[in-house]
Amino acid sequence: MKAPAFQYARPASVDDACALLAQHGGDARILAGGQSMFATLNLRLSAPSLLVDINRIPALQGITADAEPGLVRIGALVRHAETAASSVVAREVPLVAMAMHHVAHPAVRNRGTTCGSLALADPSAEMPACAIALDATLVLQSRDGGMRRVAAADYFQGLYETARRDDELLVEVLFPSRRPGEVFGFDELSRRHGDFALVGVALRARIDAGVIRDLRLTTFATDPMPVVSGAAARIAEGERWSPALGEAIAAAAVRELEPDTNHAGGPEVKRLQAATMMRRVLAATFGRGAAHD
Ligand SMILES: Cc1cc2nc3c(=O)[nH]c(=O)nc-3n(C[C@H](O)[C@H](O)[C@H](O)COP(=O)(O)OP(=O)(O)OC[C@H]3O[C@@H](n4cnc5c(N)ncnc54)[C@H](O)[C@@H]3O)c2cc1C
Repeated sequence: MKAPAFQYARPASVDDACALLAQHGGDARILAGGQSMFATLNLRLSAPSLLVDINRIPALQGITADAEPGLVRIGALVRHAETAASSVVAREVPLVAMAMHHVAHPAVRNRGTTCGSLALADPSAEMPACAIALDATLVLQSRDGGMRRVAAADYFQGLYETARRDDELLVEVLFPSRRPGEVFGFDELSRRHGDFALVGVALRARIDAGVIRDLRLTTFATDPMPVVSGAAARIAEGERWSPALGEAIAAAAVRELEPDTNHAGGPEVKRLQAATMMRRVLAATFGRGAAHD
């Protein structure tokens, strides 16, 4: 199928892009990498009257360490491939670097943007789960509202639903730099490497004198948006790692999921897959000596 007719604009600045969004509201869509956008247009799942192509806005480029003290900035035009290859991301935001290995195939990664993935909020995508696990901040700009910052936990609101208003451009995401004692884990199940996840787990925690603190066990691709397990955090807090602890955490965390039935299976299959991935990620993160002393 072919895309419906649309107008096209290529603003040279964030202000110009925001002015176009203010003028056209819900009838306009941002065009970043186009990897998800053109699929929905060609299938006629969306029919915006205007595409606002942000690819010629220099201010949206770049990955910056210490953009603000302790924060790594990834601009809206940074492609997945650039994030994956970044030494700053590898050093300061290891969870994103781990997850990037699973994001799509090279051709898609060369065009698709890391912020585009956050803007889209696909429940099977890796970046929303990392943003939530790491307490990232999404920076949104509009002509009338100026700049506003939204915590990832508030930004993702449901299936492809976010706190972004139609007149707002996601200009960057800010990830906290790795802090002393932090550990990270990531894995996912997919049909082929690079496909969207059937189920995935992103984990951040702190090891303090051999015990686990502040566990954020985040599961994605099961529910309409990534799920952080409160039970997992309570069970793990102050404990030393053991396989039995891993079993208890996974058993409790999986009960907090509410998987829908879709092409990948029903709730029981997804709970089983999620529990397996949780056990695997917990053991890989804590079982390699990090939590023993
Ligand atoms: C074959 C294939 C496999 C894929 N596999 C994966 C995968 O395994 N994991 C994964 O995470 N993704 C996967 N993707 C999706 C890919 O990562 C997309 O590139 C990404 O989801 C969207 O980024 P984009 O820059 O291409 O956005 P676009 O397609 O340009 O835009 C997507 C949506 O986000 C909006 N948007 C984009 N940028 C902004 C912004 N800065 N501000 C406001 N709104 C914005 C657009 O208006 C649009 O609604 C796959 C895509 C394909 C085609």
